[in-house]
Amino acid sequence: MTSSLPADPIEFLKWDWSRMAPHAKGLLRRRLTPSSIDGWLADWSELAGLIAESFNRLYIRTTTHTNDKAGQARFRKYSEEVMPKARAFEQGMKKRLLECGLRPKGMAVPLRRMRSDSAIYRPENLPLRTKSEALETKLNALTGSRTFDWDGETLNQAQVLAKLAHANRKTRERAWMALSGCLESQKPELDRLWVQLLDLRGQMARNAGLRNYRSYRWRELARFHYTPQDCRIFHDAIARVVVPAVQRLAERRKRGLGLDRLRVWDDFWHLRPDPLGRAALQPFETAAELTATAERVFTRLDPDLASYYRILRDEGLLDLEARAHKAPGGYEMELPASKRAFIFTVAVGTHLDVLTHLHESGHAFHVFESTHWPCHYQAMLDYVPVEFVELGSMAMELLGSPFLTRDRGGFYTELQYAQAQLEQMESILTFWPYMAVVDAFQHWVYENLEAARDTRQCDEVWASLVRVFMPHLDWTGIEDTLRMCWRLQGHIITSPFYYVEYGMAQLGAIGVWANARKDPQGAVKAYRRALSLGNTASLPDLYKAAGVRFAFGEKEVAQAVGLVEGAINELDSIH
Ligand SMILES: [Zn+2]
Repeated sequence: MTSSLPADPIEFLKWDWSRMAPHAKGLLRRRLTPSSIDGWLADWSELAGLIAESFNRLYIRTTTHTNDKAGQARFRKYSEEVMPKARAFEQGMKKRLLECGLRPKGMAVPLRRMRSDSAIYRPENLPLRTKSEALETKLNALTGSRTFDWDGETLNQAQVLAKLAHANRKTRERAWMALSGCLESQKPELDRLWVQLLDLRGQMARNAGLRNYRSYRWRELARFHYTPQDCRIFHDAIARVVVPAVQRLAERRKRGLGLDRLRVWDDFWHLRPDPLGRAALQPFETAAELTATAERVFTRLDPDLASYYRILRDEGLLDLEARAHKAPGGYEMELPASKRAFIFTVAVGTHLDVLTHLHESGHAFHVFESTHWPCHYQAMLDYVPVEFVELGSMAMELLGSPFLTRDRGGFYTELQYAQAQLEQMESILTFWPYMAVVDAFQHWVYENLEAARDTRQCDEVWASLVRVFMPHLDWTGIEDTLRMCWRLQGHIITSPFYYVEYGMAQLGAIGVWANARKDPQGAVKAYRRALSLGNTASLPDLYKAAGVRFAFGEKEVAQAVGLVEGAINELDSIH
């Protein structure tokens, strides 16, 4: 029956649920035997892959063209009309697989996840999920609509954020004040959406019989290998080991810039001016330059990875440049039926854009490496633990960087490369404390849901966490901008708890990088082997395959900090 599904995913975009339903029903009814199960899984994967790809393609359109009202409407219609039914179908299929007693090869890990998904599945949550998605789309439109008048020029948020790395301190301060002014004006609407989302999330958890949304989300994110308590241990390790290291960096920064105190615009979370006061690197101007250089980087790193990259480039699967009416941020999205990936970024020409591109390319390579698995639960990145998915991308930032020098086909002279490396190493180190703030904040929110509905309390908790984990910043006189700026961190609002993974994955990525410094080919080989496991190995086994350990205690954190600080000290000799 499923042989009549269209081979072309673009054709499938025209299908509504009434055309999919007979296929879905046929699969739900099919008899399962040891000899029929593999065919059944393959047919299920074909249908599920087409549905997921359609959803993703429609979503992509809402971010590449935030002003396309018809595109927004199509996405909304698909979300509201197809997805709830598709999710119910998916759940029915999982239930059949779990209950049939057959254990197809390579499915032990996916089955564990399915059991966990089934345990929290409630049909009454489907409309709530649809509502959340509608609110999230509204939020994206709201953040995408942020424009700034800058000396008569209209800038988007990414362009203003980029000014936080500007060498001129006045420009940086002005960028920060512009951002917080915009947040201030959107606060009433943002807060209204926030409270609506919190209420929906609390309701979903209660429907599933769970104490709080964190417990629900823990299961939803399939966090089988660590607990909220382990996250706290991670935060403590960061406070003990990383915060002092960042303070050492802050002292150097103050000396280098000739400042007596650091303000947020001297050392923002993920964007900062050069600590020696040099102009920000401007490695490229156009997306075409970025793409051409990235291709050379990947060619030197590994010929197969380069061939994946050329597919992305040649098939129009890269939307990289800053334009009006693009949503902010960056992401990689899989197109499972096409066995392809799509990369979205808003690149304005900074070194951070280069790193983001390496990062999202790492995700895309992960998609290419896993498509050989027959079942979508084995192949799709959506099912691979995020703690490992982000290792795939963060390790690529570190593996690709050494090829950014001009003599290896990249952008930079030796001196510029040292500046770029320093920027990257500083970002790695300063990220952990910020990650701890974002994560600890959310633990507080979902442990205190009622209090968190009052955003003034959220503001206070956020401010006190920033003071604990980032004591090097001086907020005197601008405390109001500190309190409100959690709203700048989109994950908090639209992807709850999805953040600590970056901190864990960064540790793993540094392990891969350390291996690559000793044995470049061996490290890339292990990295690719781990990616190719898709979702068929447990989280610790995926890390092991990549040549590292899944652990984030004080010992591991200290080891990584030692490596990064060592690299920073080495860079001191080049200038
Ligand atoms: Zn990522």
